[in-house]
Amino acid sequence: DLRARFLELLEEHGVEPHRVGVATTSCFGACGLAGSAATYLLARPEKILYRVTSEADLEDILQEHVLQGQVVARLRVQEEPIALEFLERYGDVAFFNRQSRIALRNAGVVDPENLDEYLGFDGFKALATTLERREPDWVISELTKARLRGRGGGGFLTATKWTLARQQADTTRFIICNGDEGDPGAFMDRSMLESDPFNIVEGMIIGGFAIGAQKGFFYIRAEYPLAIKRIEQAIAACRAQGLLGRDIMGSGFDFDLEIRLGAGAFVCGEETALIRSIEGERGQPKVRPPYPTDRGLWGHPTVINNVETFANVSAILRYGGDWYSRIGTPKSGGTKVFALAGKVRHTGLVEVPLGTTLSRVVNDIGGGVSGGRQLKAIQTGGPAGGFIPAAMQGMEVDFEPLQKAGSIMGSGGMIVLSEDDCMVDIAKFYMAFSQEESCGKCTPCREGTTRILEILERITLGKGELADLDKLERLSRLCQRTSLCGLGRAAPNPVLSSLKHFREEFLAHIQDKH
Ligand code: SF4
Repeated sequence: DLRARFLELLEEHGVEPHRVGVATTSCFGACGLAGSAATYLLARPEKILYRVTSEADLEDILQEHVLQGQVVARLRVQEEPIALEFLERYGDVAFFNRQSRIALRNAGVVDPENLDEYLGFDGFKALATTLERREPDWVISELTKARLRGRGGGGFLTATKWTLARQQADTTRFIICNGDEGDPGAFMDRSMLESDPFNIVEGMIIGGFAIGAQKGFFYIRAEYPLAIKRIEQAIAACRAQGLLGRDIMGSGFDFDLEIRLGAGAFVCGEETALIRSIEGERGQPKVRPPYPTDRGLWGHPTVINNVETFANVSAILRYGGDWYSRIGTPKSGGTKVFALAGKVRHTGLVEVPLGTTLSRVVNDIGGGVSGGRQLKAIQTGGPAGGFIPAAMQGMEVDFEPLQKAGSIMGSGGMIVLSEDDCMVDIAKFYMAFSQEESCGKCTPCREGTTRILEILERITLGKGELADLDKLERLSRLCQRTSLCGLGRAAPNPVLSSLKHFREEFLAHIQDKH
């Protein structure tokens, strides 16, 4: 309604469309800015972000900004100005300008339903260069230089995975985009699919070319209807413009994409379960090897990458693998997107170079703990992750340091916990999630998560005993060592890390019987 009204106002005041255009964009990923119902208006090229809640606000913007060329200070979303580190698209809003947005570079900037807009922001240039060069090896060598690691959590080098599939003798190959994001508190993939669908499609076409695939699949959970709609539209628009289908851009390369919907089982994010789900089987993991790059979808070599991994591909090829590798750490090039949530002032999507400290993400970008409370811990990696105590907030965020601290990167969930949170309760919450989502195929995970949850429930009801802590540890280690897939192997992480860092809270429940 506000958009329609603004268009009316422009017309009423005789502002010509070529002077002021109004485009629709997607989510900026600044959930914390929302507060009450508000629409954001990004004035380009000035890069001024306005928070609009009423028609009166629009009239002020028209009068002062459009007609008189002055910034409407009252409506401006402003924090202290800081030098931009990467693309200058968001103005001087600290939540944005302390980030380095590569995967999210178009979020809130382009109209996700308009191919022309994406083309206007250098869209499909990386694909055009790739197809002109006709060298899959060039793509893989740029990704190798970039040190791009899979953003779904495993951290496997993308170039190595693509090479493994490409080297197979079987020339029927597939590429899959894993959009089955299921971690509580994680919304990175959904946002990228919704806000920049053409970029993900471009990354997949380039990936398909590099590994010699003829077909790709988006696997998106059915609970993401807007993401599905946007990808459907993007695929249709690309087909209509010869960017998908036969002989893409006259290169002789044939490739097409399809969407498959996930029915909400968390375990279907695991790649072998995801493949079975696409095949129409029950989504349960299989023993590896063989790995999907050897024998994946319908027995053919298959590459599966997360949405964020594909989101980086076009930028790497546009600006070069060397450029990308200069951002990040010696082991991991580039940035990582986190869904910052929990007890933090500015929630939303945060993209920072790998190696950035947790403190910078939570305090400098997130604005610190909400309500003036003290930071207790930061949980990374969703239900498979662990808790990093406040004392360790100076640590760098990268795959190995997080693992060493008893957590994982996961796909990028980051939950801030304050002094008001009970760590035993939170560990129980995550264990209940894993127990519910266990597919039941193997005993250590099916029975282990059930027994661990029972013990945690006993403790939180004030009926625990000291011996329960040993049992928790032994069961957790057993579950970690002997479960078939990543879900069971990682499910005990929240319990083990809370026992390690917050044992006194378990003891308080047991000794005080509360
Ligand atoms: Fe299923 Fe859990 Fe075994 Fe994975 S570890 S196969 S989720 S029972």
